[in-house]
Amino acid sequence: MVVRMRHNRGQTGSRRSHHALKTAVLSLCKDCGSPKKPHDICTVCGKYKGKQIVDVHTKIAKKNAKAKEKAKKAGK
Ligand SMILES: [Zn+2]
Repeated sequence: MVVRMRHNRGQTGSRRSHHALKTAVLSLCKDCGSPKKPHDICTVCGKYKGKQIVDVHTKIAKKNAKAKEKAKKAGK
């Protein structure tokens, strides 16, 4: 690739002036009080607007069982 035109530091800085990261906005879960993203399911209790959306306990159990099986396979 050919560099067509050299950019000076000012031009580079101007372009990068929009690259700063914004701090994440977090609200508290009404059910368990842990911080969560607004308009999103709580990752701790799996609820949204007081309604159970994701069964977190069975999901964790399933994940652990899968990891155990994978470790077992890798050991053989
Ligand atoms: Zn919660």
